Amino acid sequence: MNAVWIDEAPAAADATANSLKIERETHKLEKRLCRQVGQAIVDYNMIEEGDKVMVCVSGGKDSYALLDILLKLKARAPIHFDIVAVNLDQKQPGFPEEVLPRYLSDLGVDFHIENQDTYSIVKRVIPEGKTTCGLCSRLRRGILYRVADELGATKVALGHHRDDMLQTFFLNMFFAGKLKSMPPKLVSDDGKHVVIRPLAYVAEKDTVRWAQHREFPIIPCTLCGSQENLQRKQVGEMLREWDKKYPGRVENMFTALQNVVPSHLLDGTQHDFKGLKATGVADDDGDKAFDPPSFDLLSQAPAALRIVQG
Ligand code: SF4
Repeated sequence: MNAVWIDEAPAAADATANSLKIERETHKLEKRLCRQVGQAIVDYNMIEEGDKVMVCVSGGKDSYALLDILLKLKARAPIHFDIVAVNLDQKQPGFPEEVLPRYLSDLGVDFHIENQDTYSIVKRVIPEGKTTCGLCSRLRRGILYRVADELGATKVALGHHRDDMLQTFFLNMFFAGKLKSMPPKLVSDDGKHVVIRPLAYVAEKDTVRWAQHREFPIIPCTLCGSQENLQRKQVGEMLREWDKKYPGRVENMFTALQNVVPSHLLDGTQHDFKGLKATGVADDDGDKAFDPPSFDLLSQAPAALRIVQG
C-alpha cells in the first residue's frame, strides 16, 4: 500500500503540473494568435464595417487556423462583419470530400464548397514531369474570384503567414533579383477584389501548435502528386535553421519588411538619387556617411510589431 502512495503520488502530481503547464501555454498561444491577427487587421485596415469576408479553406493547418481565429475575433470585434468559408474541391484523386463540409457544418459557419475539376485540366495541359502549380494556381484564383462575386464577398482572406512572406521575400531575392514579398493586402489583378492575409504577423510554428491543439481534420496537400517546390522548401529550412541558431533573427527580418529605407538602397525609381543636392542645412537626423552603421534594429521597429512579438 505504502509503495503505491510513495510511487504514484509524485507521478500524479507531475501529470497535474504538466497538464496545467500545457493549459497555460495554450491559453498564451490563443491570446498571441488573436492579438497578432487583430493587430494585422488594424495596421492594414483589412476588415471594415459591413464586410463579407470570404475565407479560403484548403484543409491545411493555416487556413483552418485563419478561420478559427477570425471567428473568435468576429465575436468580440467592435465592428460587424460576416464570414463565409469557401473550399475549392479541385477533384484531386483521393480528396476526402466529406471532411470539410462536416467540419464547417459542425462549426456552424456559413460555407460554400465549389466543385471544379481543375485537376483534369492541369493533367491534360501540362506535359508529364513539368510543374503543374503555375496553371493550377491561376485556375484556382480565377474560380475563387468568381465565387467571391457570386457570394457578394467584399474581401478574400488567405491563410499565408509570416514565414510564407519571408520565404517569398528570399525566393524573389535569390531567384528573381527583386526585393519583393507577399503583401498583407492587395487588389487582385482583375482590379475587382481586395485580398487580405490576416495571419501576416503569425509564425508558422504557432499555426502548427494551434492545429494540434484544435485537432483540425487536416487534408494532405500532396494529393495532386506535384512535387513540393524545392526552392521554397530549401528557403524554409534555412529560415528554421536560423530561427534555432540565432533567436530573434527571423523577427528582425520581418520587422525589416515594415521598415524600408529607399534612400539606402539602390533603386532610382524609389529615391531621386540623380536629383540629390546638398541643402546646406545641418540635420541631426541626416545621414552620417562616415560613421559605422547602426544595427539597433528593434529600436526602429514599428511600434505595432514590438507589441505583437512574444
Ligand atoms: S501543389 Fe498541386 S494543388 Fe497545389 S498548386 Fe501545385 S498543382 Fe495545384
